[in-house]
Amino acid sequence: MAETLEVDVAIVGSGLAGLRAAIEAARTSNGKLSVGVFTKTQVMRSHSVSAEGGTAAVLYPEEGDSFQSHMYDTVKGSDFLADQDAVELLVKKAPEEILQLERWGMPWARRPDGKIAQRFFGGQSYPRACFAEDKVGFFEMSTLYDTALKWDCITFYPEWVVTSILTDGKRFVGITAIEMKTGDFHAVKAKSCVMATGGAGRLYSFATYGYSSTPDGLVMAYRAGAALKDMEFVQFHPTGLVPSGILITEAARSEGGILLNAKGERFLKRYAPERLEMAPRDIVSRAMYTEILEGRGFEGEEGMKYLHLDLTQIGAEKLKTRLAGIREICMKLAGIDPISEPIPVRPVAHYFMGGIDVNIMGKTGLEGLWAAGEVACVSINGANRLGSNSTTECLVWGALTGRQAAEYAMRNGVRELPKEKVEGEEKRIFDGLLGKAPRENPYDVRNELQQTMERRCHIFRDEAGLLEGLREIKALRERLYKGVADSSRIYNTNLVNVLELENMIEVSEVIVISALNRQESRGAHARTDYPRRDDVNFLKHTLAYYTVEGPKLEYISPTITEYLPTERKY
Ligand SMILES: Cc1cc2nc3c(=O)[nH]c(=O)nc-3n(C[C@H](O)[C@H](O)[C@H](O)COP(=O)(O)OP(=O)(O)OC[C@H]3O[C@@H](n4cnc5c(N)ncnc54)[C@H](O)[C@@H]3O)c2cc1C
Repeated sequence: MAETLEVDVAIVGSGLAGLRAAIEAARTSNGKLSVGVFTKTQVMRSHSVSAEGGTAAVLYPEEGDSFQSHMYDTVKGSDFLADQDAVELLVKKAPEEILQLERWGMPWARRPDGKIAQRFFGGQSYPRACFAEDKVGFFEMSTLYDTALKWDCITFYPEWVVTSILTDGKRFVGITAIEMKTGDFHAVKAKSCVMATGGAGRLYSFATYGYSSTPDGLVMAYRAGAALKDMEFVQFHPTGLVPSGILITEAARSEGGILLNAKGERFLKRYAPERLEMAPRDIVSRAMYTEILEGRGFEGEEGMKYLHLDLTQIGAEKLKTRLAGIREICMKLAGIDPISEPIPVRPVAHYFMGGIDVNIMGKTGLEGLWAAGEVACVSINGANRLGSNSTTECLVWGALTGRQAAEYAMRNGVRELPKEKVEGEEKRIFDGLLGKAPRENPYDVRNELQQTMERRCHIFRDEAGLLEGLREIKALRERLYKGVADSSRIYNTNLVNVLELENMIEVSEVIVISALNRQESRGAHARTDYPRRDDVNFLKHTLAYYTVEGPKLEYISPTITEYLPTERKY
């Protein structure tokens, strides 16, 4: 039988969004509510620790930056699909979050005058990314974790794998989870919940994400009745280190790095003549891929073609102080010192613009359930996110959702958990999977799924490839005979990997079907068979609802308050 636990507010995920939400829930209730943070990794292993380059905010309007400019850059970067009221909220709340972090001890880099330093990021027309070396995520996470530990009402449940969201049909009532250390299955009653389970980057094999970045939270919400929004928009960051896929931050280009093809040409002059390396990621990645496809890339080992990111002109001093992490990564993982040698890079899966459909306040369609951070689609990113806006989004909506979840918990009681659903979930996992030898190695199925996504649903897509991808995903679903040979309950990571794989297949199907139906090119979604943006038919968000036959799609218009779509040039 499931162990039952009770908290007032459940936070699922301990990345930037989850930690910020937990602190705000504690602050809102003045420590009176119990806040449980459930996370399948150790807290500081959450993927946010790897954020490198910066967090965007307008800090110095007196020096020329403005909310208007941050807002327009973000909307234009999104290829006009972002909800403009949400973008306005992002830019207005961002400075508060930067200063709040500073008060909690964040070691922001400084200018000579002692003020917080900022750097450029692609598509931003002002240097507005606050940073701490090139390890912004690590320092932000440390600051938030230290702050959260000061609240007695916050309890961390590390290495608890949440498997489902429980509802009474309309309202959130709790979650189920496996405690890895004991193998116990728990049913957790809670009054409200914030989902902050991050992105799903491990759907691709060449990705900047950690191995834990699988779409569990997306599938839990989807199965519970919430919609997934704009899942076709997957961001490929221009500079993944070859062959590992580790990110080389955009800050490397902002500090002066340039991209060169095998002919030694600074090819971006042909694609984004004004912004060059500082154009938005969708444009730079498409340019790089085109160079590679047209034969101007370098031939790598095992056929992985690449281009050069040249940082040699930046100078040793700046590289050692502002890009120390990048230098260390290059030296340890590629045997290259970027002070004197170019870095081999190619576009790499990096971010999901889509996510759980939420309103401007981060509320899902289910009462008592909010979502924040990369797992949510507010949407401030539309069809393409600008670098340095994601950590800002995590902080802003982490705070907003944490506060609302606490206010809701102060007004409402816990509800009974649906006994049959809890028992059904326990049976599905333990009776259904444990000790049953799989017909096929699930890791082979996972590798094939990643190859399908790399081949069929990458930077450039077309109908034939997407249809083939869908066929392959359906075949993989059939082949995934659900079983785990290891029958031990304690630290059974094979069991967790099989659960994750089921989620990966589910979400891959949603992505491919959403991409098939969007017959236009917008932001990161580039259809070679529909190369133009089509505002008449597709200035719309895609919503995917779960049905047993597969996703059911609907469309809604984005909120446009100030900026009508125009041609996007850089
Ligand atoms: C290498 C890299 C560098 C980046 N650099 C920047 C940058 O400089 N600036 C910027 O703005 N953005 C950057 N980004 C993007 C940004 O870091 C992420 O979008 C953001 O950190 C996501 O935070 P999150 O809180 O939403 O999720 P995450 O930090 O991914 O956390 C997800 C949490 O959910 C938990 N979880 C997941 N599934 C379950 C489950 N089933 N049960 C329990 N817990 C679960 C995990 O344990 C984890 O704690 C970068 C991304 C990468 C990959």
